Amino acid sequence: MEEITVRVPSGKFRIKEGRCPNGCSLMNKKKLLSGKPAITAEVRLRGDVSLIHFNPYYGVYEYETDVDLHPGDSVDLYCPHCKASLTVPELCGMCRVHMFAIQLPDGGEVRACPIVGCRNHRLTIIDLDAQFAEFYEEERKPKM
Ligand SMILES: [Zn+2]
Ligand SMILES: [Zn+2]
Repeated sequence: MEEITVRVPSGKFRIKEGRCPNGCSLMNKKKLLSGKPAITAEVRLRGDVSLIHFNPYYGVYEYETDVDLHPGDSVDLYCPHCKASLTVPELCGMCRVHMFAIQLPDGGEVRACPIVGCRNHRLTIIDLDAQFAEFYEEERKPKM
């Protein structure tokens, strides 16, 4: 498959459906960030187990969790439903730790580094039409 690079302004592309490797939805309608359902995963760090809620807008580094996170901490992320690990074999090019992935519909995914403070992340979209048709539709909506 060919790869093209598209630059997406941060905060413009919203992940509407993100899943664990087994297909459980990670979208959390009870937890809103920027007014939209957050992506919720189980987070484990130094024996603590809790939930972490990520802002669903791609490139927005906002999250909420009870776990005390400090820059440089490496978190482990799991599906809160089936407990599958979200970690993938790929290493962060900067931190050399395994990245984690959130699966998008149609074979796309978001990958990010689990080190707190590292902003290495990537969006892969397979079905460009489906994802970006919606993206542009949102763009055209009048701003409130
Ligand atoms: Zn799952
Ligand atoms: Zn990193």
